[in-house]
Amino acid sequence: MKMLEIKKIYKDYDNQVAVDGINLTINKGQIYGILGPNGAGKSTLIKMICGLIRKTSGEVIYEESTNKIRKWKENIGIVPQDFALYWDLTAEENISFFCSLYGFRGKELKERTKKTLEFVGLLDVKDKKASEFSGGMKRRLNIGCAIAHSPKLIIMDEPTVGIDPQSRNHILQSVLKLREEGATVIYTSHYMQEVDDICDKIAIIDKGHVIAEGTSDELKNLVGEMNIFNLSVTKKVNGLEEKLKEITGVEKVTFLENEYKISTLKSNNLISNIVTTVAESGGDIKNIASEEPSLEAVFLALTGKNLRE
Ligand code: ADP
Ligand code: MG
Repeated sequence: MKMLEIKKIYKDYDNQVAVDGINLTINKGQIYGILGPNGAGKSTLIKMICGLIRKTSGEVIYEESTNKIRKWKENIGIVPQDFALYWDLTAEENISFFCSLYGFRGKELKERTKKTLEFVGLLDVKDKKASEFSGGMKRRLNIGCAIAHSPKLIIMDEPTVGIDPQSRNHILQSVLKLREEGATVIYTSHYMQEVDDICDKIAIIDKGHVIAEGTSDELKNLVGEMNIFNLSVTKKVNGLEEKLKEITGVEKVTFLENEYKISTLKSNNLISNIVTTVAESGGDIKNIASEEPSLEAVFLALTGKNLRE
């Protein structure tokens, strides 16, 4: 079942194209990751989904029926990249205020506020002002403000940038919990590991284009039959890189901190050929391990650039 269908959506800011014809379908109950470097167009894309900025062209269809954002807006909870909080209000007052905008009052409002404070782990600091919070706590409070009205679709724009590891874990766990409770989540990030860890489906975007879309495994399969071996030695062996490169199937060899990183295609007897070559050159192998294929490698293969952590 579709939650959202985005058709040929474009945005330019004064002739500069930020989103360049994106099509996406997001199904109900998914955590949908939008992964891309800074400036790729992630925030612009989700601002158009939420109706915060005008599209240059294209269409967003909500739940297979309406393209009228005004009618559908109450179903969305947005956690913007830049905090949207009232700094002089307490955590409790912030959540209660945002929840009240959706028409909740009295006992129900109180209960929702309390439940949300609990959910984001801020119940014991509910009377502190937002301005007194750490970056991670502000982010959690902003998530609370976005979800207290139980939206069907929750959109989080880079919610883990610049926060402590504990809050980061808390947020990632919360996203999984929100899915469990039936929400659909759109999650943008430039951190490939967290997207890989929590997202059911991922679109990799660069320069306003979707360059690849699929599950984590599907994306990793795009880099095909590449394997990477990390072979650590007690010390560098002169001329070994060149000899390794001569082996059939070996594509690339680099050496860093007593470790040879060997990129290979699938080939018969590859590992034994590598090990024999190292041994014959007088290398002392400490360890050999194959590296898991990563989304970083996918991005590199598709764009020739590194997706910076
Ligand atoms: P991301 O969120 O992936 O970092 P953005 O959507 O913020 O990317 O930006 C995409 C491109 O659009 C960038 O080149 C950025 O400089 C440009 N851009 C974003 N917002 C504006 C704006 N309000 N005015 C002009 N250019 C903008
Ligand atoms: Mg952004």
